[in-house]
Order: sequence, then structure tokens, then C-alpha cells
Amino acid sequence: MNPENKTPLTTRKIIVIGGGAAGFFTAITAAEADPSAEVTVYEKGNAFLTKVKISGGGRCNVTHACFDPVLLSKNYPRGSRELRGTFHEWQPQDTVDWFAARGVELKAEADGRMFPITDSSQTIIDCFMKSARDAGVILKTGIALDEVQSEPDGTFFLHFSNGESVRADKVCITSGSLKSSPLTRAIELLGHSIEPLVPSLFAFNIPDQRLEGLAGLSVQVARVKIIPKSPEQSGPVLITHRGLSGPAILRLSAWEARRFAELDYAVEISINWLGNTSAEDLRATFSDNRAEAGKSLVKNKVPTGLPRRLWERLLETTGIATETQWSQLTKDRENALVHQLTDCRFQVKGKTTNKDEFVTCGGVRLKEIDFRRMESRIVSGLHFAGECLDIDGITGGFNFQAAWTCGRIAGLAMVH
Ligand SMILES: Cc1cc2nc3c(=O)[nH]c(=O)nc-3n(C[C@H](O)[C@H](O)[C@H](O)COP(=O)(O)OP(=O)(O)OC[C@H]3O[C@@H](n4cnc5c(N)ncnc54)[C@H](O)[C@@H]3O)c2cc1C
Repeated sequence: MNPENKTPLTTRKIIVIGGGAAGFFTAITAAEADPSAEVTVYEKGNAFLTKVKISGGGRCNVTHACFDPVLLSKNYPRGSRELRGTFHEWQPQDTVDWFAARGVELKAEADGRMFPITDSSQTIIDCFMKSARDAGVILKTGIALDEVQSEPDGTFFLHFSNGESVRADKVCITSGSLKSSPLTRAIELLGHSIEPLVPSLFAFNIPDQRLEGLAGLSVQVARVKIIPKSPEQSGPVLITHRGLSGPAILRLSAWEARRFAELDYAVEISINWLGNTSAEDLRATFSDNRAEAGKSLVKNKVPTGLPRRLWERLLETTGIATETQWSQLTKDRENALVHQLTDCRFQVKGKTTNKDEFVTCGGVRLKEIDFRRMESRIVSGLHFAGECLDIDGITGGFNFQAAWTCGRIAGLAMVH
């Protein structure tokens, strides 16, 4: 260690570990709030903001058009309660205003997801790089933090992969997912606990003849749950080459991320392809069809919202021939069809990462963090923001919003 590093600090020295979404928001916030502070971001990779670059299919789903902190917090399977208060400090409207003040306009799509009007994540990266430079943030790439020592006088010594040891007044860890990260051990050595790290936001692999050849079809409002029991998720379901995906499936994967991991992704699910139509409603409709159009073919009465090819596949599955008329539909066949439509069972056998957005469930235990300052309750002056925490949202811009909010609070706390 260079003895010069032991000299007392004159300028407030802030070090941010990780040049991703949370790291940039934290560093810019701190540097703008206290221009006299020396704020440095250390990034282990060769480039900054690499996940922002690929996010949202290259468009960067920056946030979600949900401006009520309580409603917003309900989109986080982990961290919901803790984030509620933080969203009163910094929520999507603040994010929209922050970017607007820097010349970046965001637009909301019909489902609430917000993107830059350029539809390019590079716009967000350019904005961050310029804001960081303007605020005097020092940016270093290709250097990983290996270890952090907390000193008796309240400062820190950080040891980096290039052999550098640096002293700091405040440290914020924004290293992203801790899955397979050597930093996990360094964080544990500081006294923190790490909640088990498992994937969230994944599609289901379902090798099943009923889905074969139907890839690309989607149902706008389906309901899906785990058997024997889980809260239902509703919304679009997409048939893929490997099984099922789409917002309702991704939501189920997020809310039940731990259960899926415990069961090694071998899980039975039930889908109601007709969303809010119950088995009883459907039987009543079938009875009307029989009474009013007994001579017409079953296959021609495609239930609303169901793609014709999926309907024909389910008829085939239940052994209903293409020439069957409503008046000829037996009770057994009808029951089987109702079952396939409203309680269609599938065996999930594995998962596929969602290419638009995936995150890690698990991370630094939330009880150990003071969310008013995003500061460790164990080591004063040590802050955390972003995915390294046991916080994750469903897909739709909620993960970045958590990174902006926690980064904002951490950045301000480190200079106040
Ligand atoms: C394909 C994909 C698309 C996504 N799209 C969206 C989206 O559109 N909207 C949304 O809300 N969320 C999206 N997400 C999730 C979102 O990217 C993350 O929630 C977010 O990036 C978390 O920010 P972060 O700063 O905590 O972590 P990261 O963005 O992962 O940044 C952490 C940085 O720290 C660096 N680092 C790690 N360890 C060290 C170390 N020891 N020393 C120095 N540096 C280190 C890493 O190299 C990395 O650059 C997407 C995720 C993926 C994978």
C-alpha cells in the first residue's frame, strides 16, 4: 500500500463501484450536489453502461408511466415495501423531468413502458456520459474492486485489480447482479448477508405436442398460475419455439422466482386461455351454441381472443373431429374442451432467459440497509444501489427505475 494514501483527505472523496445504470446515477447526483467532492467511478469492464446499451431490445425501457409511489412499489417481487418510501423521494416523473432537463424526451407506450423518443439506448448513454463529464466525475474502466476495508476513523481503503489501493470517505457499491461475482465475498467480509441469488424474468421451456408448430401465436388476456397454488398472473401469453413467454409468464417467473429455483424449474402450471371466462361461463356459452346453432360446426365458433390455430389444436387434443356439429358434442368431449381452455395444464421443464430483460433475484439483505440514505446499517459511509441489492421488478422499466431512485438517494446521502 502506498503510504501517501494514508495522508488525511482534504477533499471529500467518493468512490462508486460499477459504471452501470445505478453507478452513473449515483455519481452524477453526488458530483452535481457537491461540486467540490471528488467522485470516481471504477468499472471492471472495458466499457460503461453496457446493460443500458442492450436494454429494452436496444431501445432502453427507461422507466414506467406509473406516477403513484404505492402502485409503483407493487411491481417489485422483492423490495416492494422498502421502495415505497424511496419512491416518494424519486419516482418516474422525476426521472422523466431529469432527462428532459438534459434534452432527452421520453415517451410512454400503450402498456406504460417509457423509452427515449429516439428509440435508441445510445441517447441515454450519451446523456449519462455528458452529464458525468460536465459534473467532473472521474471515470475509470478496466479496474475491478477486489476488497474493501473499513477503517476505524470511518474512511475506507479499497484494493483494486490493478494493484491500486485508494482511500475514500464514502463508497457506493453499484456492481449489479452478485451472481457469480467475486465481490460477494468482499461484501460479506464487511458484515453483510447475501440473499440467495437466482434468476428472475425467464420464459418457460415446455416440450408439449399441443404447442408444436404454433410459435408466434399470442393470446392477449390469459391467466396463469403454478399448481398446486400461486397467485394468478394475467396478461398476454406468447407461444415460442421452446414453450411459453410473454408478460404474464414473465410476471409469474418473477413473483415465483425462488419457488421455480427450489423446484429446479420442473413445475406444473395451469393456463386459462380465455382470461376472465370461467368454466361455468364457457359451459353456458356452449349450451347456447347447441340450442341456437346446433347444426353449425364446433370448429367455426372460435372463442373471442383465441387464435384459430390454437383453438383447432385444442379441439384436436380433445378428440373433437373437424366435422363435429354443436348438437353432436358429447358431454365428455365438452368437459375435456372446457378443461383445455380454462385449466390447461403444462409441465415446465427448464427456463429460457428473456432476451429483452432479465435480472437477479437476491442480493444484499434489505434489513441491513437504511433506505432513507441507501446506507449500510452495519458500516457507516458504505452505500448500495441497483441490482446488487435484493430488489427486482417485473419487466417494463421497473428495474431501471429502482436503480435511478436508489442511486439518487445514495448520491445525495454521500454528500450530506
Ligand atoms: C438484456 C437485458 C435487458 C434489460 N432491459 C431493461 C429495460 O429495458 N428496462 C429495465 O428497467 N431494466 C432492464 N434490464 C435490467 C437492468 O439492466 C438492470 O436492472 C440494471 O442494469 C441494473 O443496474 P446496475 O447499475 O445495478 O447494474 P449493471 O447495469 O449491471 O451495472 C453494474 C456494473 O458494475 C460493474 N462491476 C461489477 N463488479 C465490479 C467490480 N468488482 N468492480 C468494478 N466494477 C464492477 C459491471 O461490470 C457493470 O458494468 C435489462 C437487463 C438485461 C440483461
